[in-house]
Amino acid sequence: MTFSLHGVAVSRGVAIGNAYVIAHDEFEVRDHLVEAYEIESEVARLRAAIEAAAVHLRSMHDKIPAHTPADVAAFIDTHLLMVSDATLSEEPIRLIRERRYNAAWALKCQHDAIVAAFEQMDDPYLRTRRDDIDHVVNRILRNLFSAGISKPTADDTRLQGAILLADDLAPADALLMQHHGVVGFVTEFGGPTSHTSILARSLGIPGIVGVRHVRRFVRDGETLIIDGNEGVVIGEPDQRVLTHYQRRRSERLKHSVALNKLKRASCVTRDGVALDLQANVELPSDFEAAREVGASGVGLYRTEFLYMNRIDPPTEEEHFETYRQLVQTVSGLPVTIRTLDIGGDKQVELALTARPKGANPALGLRAVRLGLKEMTLFMPQIRAIVRASALGPVRMMIPMLSQLDEARQVIELVRNVQAEFGADGVPFDPQMPVGGMIEVPAAAAYADGFAHVLDFLSIGTNDLIQYAIAIDRANEEVNYLYDPLNPGLLRLISMTIKAGARVKVPVAMCGEMAGDTRYTRLLLGLGLQSFSVHPSVLLEVKGVINDAYSKPLKSLAERALKTTDPERFKSLLVELT
Ligand code: PEP
Ligand code: MG
Repeated sequence: MTFSLHGVAVSRGVAIGNAYVIAHDEFEVRDHLVEAYEIESEVARLRAAIEAAAVHLRSMHDKIPAHTPADVAAFIDTHLLMVSDATLSEEPIRLIRERRYNAAWALKCQHDAIVAAFEQMDDPYLRTRRDDIDHVVNRILRNLFSAGISKPTADDTRLQGAILLADDLAPADALLMQHHGVVGFVTEFGGPTSHTSILARSLGIPGIVGVRHVRRFVRDGETLIIDGNEGVVIGEPDQRVLTHYQRRRSERLKHSVALNKLKRASCVTRDGVALDLQANVELPSDFEAAREVGASGVGLYRTEFLYMNRIDPPTEEEHFETYRQLVQTVSGLPVTIRTLDIGGDKQVELALTARPKGANPALGLRAVRLGLKEMTLFMPQIRAIVRASALGPVRMMIPMLSQLDEARQVIELVRNVQAEFGADGVPFDPQMPVGGMIEVPAAAAYADGFAHVLDFLSIGTNDLIQYAIAIDRANEEVNYLYDPLNPGLLRLISMTIKAGARVKVPVAMCGEMAGDTRYTRLLLGLGLQSFSVHPSVLLEVKGVINDAYSKPLKSLAERALKTTDPERFKSLLVELT
């Protein structure tokens, strides 16, 4: 009988295929001794398993698609270094030879010893490497047990057209999915902002996360449908359901062919309101994709990737070189560089003096708070952004402002750098706009105050929703409350847009809500004039905008904002979405 399971949609689209269930990455390691004559073959087996893990990682590294975030390659490099390190093979070989442990048991003992040593360490960076040790050892164990497990292997043809079901997937697995022609994935854990989810979106593979116990309900090989728009997994679909989703899938394909025609079209509503449609990028190379779809600029360049997978912070020159590449790639279009937004759900391994701590990292020392506290981290970035402003229309954006003073302090730092560069003859644009993100409710309610000191505002709905509704954006247990249609949230968004209009300061939106076509008409109704979205959804958003009449949407939205009648609110939203 047809059944459905629900999770969090992280990558849009409909996929239909056979389930490919990946069993738990936990292997039952037995502590039996090998016979004396088996010792050398056991050593050889371990060596072969380690070598196979290295070959597998190397081949994955070679298959990294262009435009993939750099930290994915760095992540594979780290695992390669670990797998090739003698620490992992020498001691287990000694245990096999001297104590006659079997290969898996010997490896497991060494794993436990390394983990115990890591846990004693004061160095927070090394402590975070424990997960990597687990991944690497599991990969080797997988090879030792290769007969009994169903993890994808390099030549597994069953993956072609399949939907992958796993407890969690690493970014490297996401690359594997693309390589093997996987059409969709479902995981039991993970959140929409994990690297795997971000990568899946870039690769255009529909996916759903946080579907607890999915592998108990779905049998390997059975037909499965996943709706990556709604976050629904449908098992044992009857013919009627199957036909419905096949139709939706082919409509989507036709739709994307039609959308391609919009690449060079301007972004304007049917009643003549011209909108700004920019792109969110993580790497300068991502902008190739944004250019391809006709973005009018970069509305959000997230610089966190520059800080990941390293201990020493990036130097001013590294920052500058990255920004130079970005500005030159977009040649002439505005580029909004967001200053570091580390902390909260974006943890890094940097050795910081003011390490973000606390039980609630999302409410702790993150983003601009961390920048203002860790000048050695912040100043090289500010200096590089100011230098980059000489190369093209660069804008600087401050994340997570909660009080005016933070904006003022950052502006003062910028002015000091500009004065120093002026005296030293270093070129820069003295008019470089400095803007801020509105993602804390107190800042939204005081957006006019921020608009008086900043040159532009951009609404970060990912965090604004988290803080306004008081739900951790990465916690699957409260994900169901993550609702962009919450009436209180809509009022905060509207307040921000109206404040910008009153003070004549442009207001954009760069959170995921801006790129979700279910909300485009509503946002037009709220008066939003500038959207910054992932390149993969930009044409869809443009399609909805170019098809809409903004005037009637505005009057519907005004009524929705005013009403306190939940039924009336709902029916107005039906017209708006
Ligand atoms: C946001 O919070 O909406 C945003 C765009 O920033 P990030 O997702 O990087 O926190
Ligand atoms: Mg944010």
